[in-house]
Amino acid sequence: MVSYKDLGLVNTREMFKGAIKGGYAIPAFNFNNMEQMQAIVSACAETKSPVILQVSSGARKYANQTLLRYMAQGAVEYAKELGWEHPQICLHLDHGDTFELCKSCVDMGFSSVMIDGSHLPYEENIALTKRVVEYAHQFDVTVEGELGVLAGIEDEVSAEHHTYTRPEEVVDFVSRTGVDSLAISIGTSHGANKFTPEQCTRDENGHLVPPPLRFDILKEVEKRLPGFPIVLHGSSSVPQEYVDIINANGGKLKDAIGIPEDQLREAAKSAVCKINIDSDGRLAMTATIRKFFNEQPDKFDPRQYLGPAREELKKLYMHKIVNVLGSDGKAQ
Ligand SMILES: [Zn+2]
Repeated sequence: MVSYKDLGLVNTREMFKGAIKGGYAIPAFNFNNMEQMQAIVSACAETKSPVILQVSSGARKYANQTLLRYMAQGAVEYAKELGWEHPQICLHLDHGDTFELCKSCVDMGFSSVMIDGSHLPYEENIALTKRVVEYAHQFDVTVEGELGVLAGIEDEVSAEHHTYTRPEEVVDFVSRTGVDSLAISIGTSHGANKFTPEQCTRDENGHLVPPPLRFDILKEVEKRLPGFPIVLHGSSSVPQEYVDIINANGGKLKDAIGIPEDQLREAAKSAVCKINIDSDGRLAMTATIRKFFNEQPDKFDPRQYLGPAREELKKLYMHKIVNVLGSDGKAQ
């Protein structure tokens, strides 16, 4: 049994309190390797933003859970070395799907876990979530639950259609499970193809314009759960500059589209206090690497292409923190 407290990590409780009071959101960035980790930590150290490092079950398979945990521990030390006096870093399991997986993460030093029973019948979701909460809270590990299903594909999570969160269920779910935060479905979506062209309209330049987020559902949830931390998954914006660079350098991303940043900024000011961004980071790295290979076909040292990819990723994260989430300066 390893306690996250001994690793210098924090759970989400104080982070979310600050975010709700201050009208901003905490970034939740996924990582699978060293370059992503360095980009996240250096971006957060430079902007003094609290951060949630997310590990998906795909990341566990790819990089090994033990190694990822030591990397998170290293992240705290690295942050201090970069001059961040009091780093607020949370290590979070993204989309845990069983009690055993959540328990294993709690036992090995994660400070927060998500139990995603959103695909289950309502009562089963409650029973599973409650079981995880009861275990995790013994060790002061915070738990995120989910109501409503997001469309899209990311790692092991996939669903064809949205099922929007039903506001009439949220009070019952939160009080019976004891979760610390709730992920809801209001039209965000996993992956880089968040909407089909048929779901969109087109602007004067012929670019796809996605349907707006369901702020009416968010407002209804907020009304029923005043001051309770809400989470948005699948909140990448899929910058068209990256899609264009990828496609101009041999890629084939068709109809990639995300959530406009002005809508996320709006959400961050509300009870939404954790916003998950993964696909944008993947696009930033891939765009940089594709361009590099295309322009410099004689190079073969991984540092030569991973270095600039890491730089671009850091730039992207700083932009999100300062211009979308508003979490800069919140963890001195
Ligand atoms: Zn998700």
